[in-house]
Amino acid sequence: QRSTREWQQADAAHFLHPFTDSKALAAKGSRIITKAENIYLWDSEGHKILDAMSGLWCVNVGYGQPSLVEAATRQLQQLPFYNAFFQTATPPAIELAELLAEVSPPQFQHVFFAGSGSEGNDTVVRMVRHYWASLGQPERQVIISRENAYHGSTMAGASLGGMRYMHAQGGLPIPGITHIPQPYWVEHGQGMDKDTFGKVAAGWLEAKILEVGPEKVAAFIGEPVQGAGGVIIPPATYWPEIQRICDKYGILLVSDEVICGFGRTGAWFGCETQGSRPDLMTFAKGVTSGYIPLGGVMVSERVAKVLIEQGGEFEHGFTYSGHPVAAAVAVANIRLIQKLRLVEHVRDDVGPYLAQQFATLKDHPLVGDAETCGLMGALLLVKDPATLTPFPAELEIGMVCRGHCFGNGLIMRAVGNRMIIAPPLVMTRAQVDEMMALIRRCLDLTLADARS
Ligand code: PLP
Repeated sequence: QRSTREWQQADAAHFLHPFTDSKALAAKGSRIITKAENIYLWDSEGHKILDAMSGLWCVNVGYGQPSLVEAATRQLQQLPFYNAFFQTATPPAIELAELLAEVSPPQFQHVFFAGSGSEGNDTVVRMVRHYWASLGQPERQVIISRENAYHGSTMAGASLGGMRYMHAQGGLPIPGITHIPQPYWVEHGQGMDKDTFGKVAAGWLEAKILEVGPEKVAAFIGEPVQGAGGVIIPPATYWPEIQRICDKYGILLVSDEVICGFGRTGAWFGCETQGSRPDLMTFAKGVTSGYIPLGGVMVSERVAKVLIEQGGEFEHGFTYSGHPVAAAVAVANIRLIQKLRLVEHVRDDVGPYLAQQFATLKDHPLVGDAETCGLMGALLLVKDPATLTPFPAELEIGMVCRGHCFGNGLIMRAVGNRMIIAPPLVMTRAQVDEMMALIRRCLDLTLADARS
């Protein structure tokens, strides 16, 4: 067994981490996570940590669920791999396709499997263009997305995403992808009531469609609630209006459910909470609760019919599309979500309780806003809650708060001045109370730093 220091040295010597400044990492050393159970992690120094981010928005059923481990073991012994190319299939992949059709909104009866959310979104780019070409409209190429969205790190995923600092590396976006502002009231809507703002923000889509030319637009893509962008929960009027605009111009609507899917928002999929009826849905993360990589695209009958009857061969796929072990774990995971009634638990019990508890944080002198959607939430940290005046950026208030969380046994993520959570869906009310006490303590410590 190696010491923490030895792990850190080997890590810095060989491991280039995603989204990490390697020089800073080498100076400080990684925190080495060694085990987990339920909603808790332990590091190599034996510290217990409440994981309010579900790993990376994915461990929906919590850590240490034996039925997922058993499903993987059984399938590894029976048939560890076979592909789904060239008219072959394996029972777990077929069973998963069937089960996904059962839990998805009724327009979805088909699925295309990938290995991750990024690959799912790459698939979307090719699939929607292929769909329109199959209908004799190959000029419909443009996909509209949003600023500050996150859709993955592949060339197409990062292009669909609206993070400028990502575009700056590697010459993105790729051609045919354009962005509109995000429906973030704090940034774009102050002075307007939120419902009015929701319609105004959706109107930016219509303006963009008219600017590009409706005959050139293939699809619009968005996360029901932007996750990595800072848990930006749109006003209730936003998605219904987006749906109306897509319908008006016949444009495909793509819901990126990589974070919002599988119970996170208190429904199986975020589009059901937020009020849209997408033509395609990408998923990953919660489909296996992160126990093993798997992603894909749910394809509505509108699209599937054209692809199947007019599309011919879709020249696209991944070695691991429908990986049998990943599929077996996903089946076990979805059955566990059903058995534990986690969607109902989030919708009717722990979600409303979290909302109520989070709202009490609005009394804290650092908190300008506190909002949740199911089991995702965000706190806006500001200098003056009455006017939402921000702290100077160089104070990095979010990072200060995140540091206190880390030091006090809580994982919460900082996105600029927003502190965000997305805990495992198995969380109980008592665990919400435990998390809230930690959050309050960390906010107090952050406030003391900000004032000093
Ligand atoms: N889409 C959304 C909304 C995400 O949050 C993520 C990852 O965080 C992705 C896509 C990319 O998924 P992956 O990291 O599995 O490629």
